[in-house]
Amino acid sequence: MGEEVKTTDFEKVIEEFERITKNAENVQKEILRKILEENASTEYLQKLGLNGRTDPESFKACVPLVLYNDLEPYIERMIDGDFSPILTGKPITIMSASSGTSQGKQKYIPWNDEVFETSVDIYQTSFAYRNREFPIQDGKALNFIYSSNFTQRKGGVIYGSATGHLFKSPGFKPLLQALKSPSCSPDGVIFSPDFHQSLYCHLLCGLLFREEIHSIASTFGHSIVFAFRSFEQDWEELVNDIKEGVLSSRITVPSIRDAMSKLLKPNPELADLIHKKCTGLSNWYGLLPELFPNVKYIQGIMTGSMETYLNKLRHYAGEVPVLTSEYGASEGWIGSNVNPKVAPEFATYAVLPQIAYFEFIPIAQLDGTQVELDPVGLTDVKIGEEYEIVITNAAGLYRYRLGDVVKVMGFHNSTPEIKFIRRGGLLLTINIDKVTETDLQLSVETASKFLDEEKIELIDYTSYIDLSKEPGHYVIFWEIRGEASDGVLAECCNCLDKTFIDRGYVISRNTKAIDDLELRIVGKGTFQKLLENHIQRGASVSQFKTPRYVGPTNTKVLQILSENVVKSYVSTAYN
Ligand code: AMP
Repeated sequence: MGEEVKTTDFEKVIEEFERITKNAENVQKEILRKILEENASTEYLQKLGLNGRTDPESFKACVPLVLYNDLEPYIERMIDGDFSPILTGKPITIMSASSGTSQGKQKYIPWNDEVFETSVDIYQTSFAYRNREFPIQDGKALNFIYSSNFTQRKGGVIYGSATGHLFKSPGFKPLLQALKSPSCSPDGVIFSPDFHQSLYCHLLCGLLFREEIHSIASTFGHSIVFAFRSFEQDWEELVNDIKEGVLSSRITVPSIRDAMSKLLKPNPELADLIHKKCTGLSNWYGLLPELFPNVKYIQGIMTGSMETYLNKLRHYAGEVPVLTSEYGASEGWIGSNVNPKVAPEFATYAVLPQIAYFEFIPIAQLDGTQVELDPVGLTDVKIGEEYEIVITNAAGLYRYRLGDVVKVMGFHNSTPEIKFIRRGGLLLTINIDKVTETDLQLSVETASKFLDEEKIELIDYTSYIDLSKEPGHYVIFWEIRGEASDGVLAECCNCLDKTFIDRGYVISRNTKAIDDLELRIVGKGTFQKLLENHIQRGASVSQFKTPRYVGPTNTKVLQILSENVVKSYVSTAYN
């Protein structure tokens, strides 16, 4: 698999993508035919009476749209070691646990070689277009990638995260090599049981290979911001390790120590240089090009909930562009960014028609009273409309509602270019209010401008609905860096309340059906504790996304937040 991509000709990748996207409708029919043919014998498709038919019409007539809960009984059996053809013709031996951040419940999704192949397609396509605009020579990438823990249960199925399985695939390293982005960190650092130790050594490797680093990447942008916030704390220790050629005693995992000992030699000159660079910066502005003089771009998923970190990332990046890369989920990849010069705030992803069969449920059907949902095909979507994505792929998902809502912004030949709008489901609702993740993000962005004026940084945020007394109210949790006065925070609190412009919210606030919004400030490191809790549950750091809403069932996360509240403010905006 990996060998095929060794001599990638990026112009050929682009040519091929142009050909595929000009013919998207037929390519979709073909991928559906292939998936249904290969899995015709599965219990799932047999039961639905498809009888070997592979055309889109029969498929839509026989196979229902499903949510994860509908598949759970089948997946449970696979987890228990039933290797009969349940959802896929070939038995599933690997499962990915998706991050399941808001409700605290993880989903298990089948993983197989076909998923790896779609990853090759997605990465190659994004890279080919990126490389046309931002060409890089052979060199190294500082990839903040972390393998999740892998476990094996009684049935013999291996569990990990989708990214963990990807990084562990034999074809992954050759793929990075083919995309001129081999990691500067050795496997011992990537595949480590301790995330903090991995992170420290990723940074150390980056510094050791600083001249060769031409890109800095992670799956989600959060990991890069998190890494350089840690650098701000640990840089002197890193410099000391380089000076002495001895790894800090904080690294205790033998496999990491072993891997790093092969790279680390005393280098006082380099240590001095990095020391000078760090002390010469004002508030770490432009840190990345100072540390890595040949870095051409910073890339990863930067859209959706990752937009929160863009300001900080751009601060570190100085003049170096910050690019968004792909769009996908543990359930399957969706699209590549083929216009990398567009800022993440406006970025779209061109759907790859050859990696799955896609359908789109018009959002009007979800919001309206229509009982039967009637999704449209990939090439039938309309510019300016919003849709929920439905995936059918080779990993045993048939008409699976992903939940994400996207907007069609244009077409790349005949495949849509979509903008990520929000994760599915309502976020905040008490009465007739319907406040989405995007509404919350906008409100937080507006309110945090008061912090910017005071040079105070918003580290992260989340929300909760407090129904402990009537009427209920919204609670927003903020972690900030710097000393904010009560006056400023009270202003932020009022602004949060006022900038939820959802009609239902405004009416409910005016009629006192929703009580005053509360801003709770949590202490330093609280959101890191959420990340740590996420890791303890066996999830992957590479896929971590701060939950923007904490549901009432997510008791552990609520407990962490509540225990760390240092101040709280009640809005007077509607008094
Ligand atoms: P996971 O649970 O780790 O599989 O996360 C998958 C989810 O991350 C998707 O369903 C999206 O909600 C989000 N996501 C992935 N890629 C992007 C992207 N490019 N822009 C915005 N959100 C994304």
